[in-house]
Amino acid sequence: MLIVRRPWLELDIPVTPPFPAYLPYGSVGERRAELRCGLMPRELLGRILDHFRAALPNEAAAFVLWNENERSFSIHYPQIDDATPSRVTYRSPILAPDQHLICDIHSHAHGAAFFSATDDADDAHSTKIALVLGRLGQPEGPAIASRLCAGGMFLPLPRSPFSGDDDAA
Ligand SMILES: [Zn+2]
Repeated sequence: MLIVRRPWLELDIPVTPPFPAYLPYGSVGERRAELRCGLMPRELLGRILDHFRAALPNEAAAFVLWNENERSFSIHYPQIDDATPSRVTYRSPILAPDQHLICDIHSHAHGAAFFSATDDADDAHSTKIALVLGRLGQPEGPAIASRLCAGGMFLPLPRSPFSGDDDAA
């Protein structure tokens, strides 16, 4: 079982199938992923979508930070080193001691929402929610791909990480 505890996250995830042996410490329990910080306010997603649409035709990026003392969320727009319609290069923010990086969001501009091989490499060493927003500025858009990154694994989110939406993101 991989057990991850962050001020904003409680994650218990099996890393091997169960095996029929006597386990002296009892059951490992169910898999679970709880957001201790609660769901992110949906209004933040709207503001980030506006920001990403304004950056079209290029890709763009945003982080959602959580302040542990104030229990408040905020958006951080990173310095963009390079952005084209198919690539964006940016850096993670330097966090204050009571701040946590909850969610790393980038756009695929007009393209489909999926995690590329580059995204996989970028996310391999982080504990965070990762989102890709695609099909921006299109009538059927936007499209969202989501995952929880922890322990080098990419886990599906059981539900949308934003409040006011029961659909899976
Ligand atoms: Zn990407």
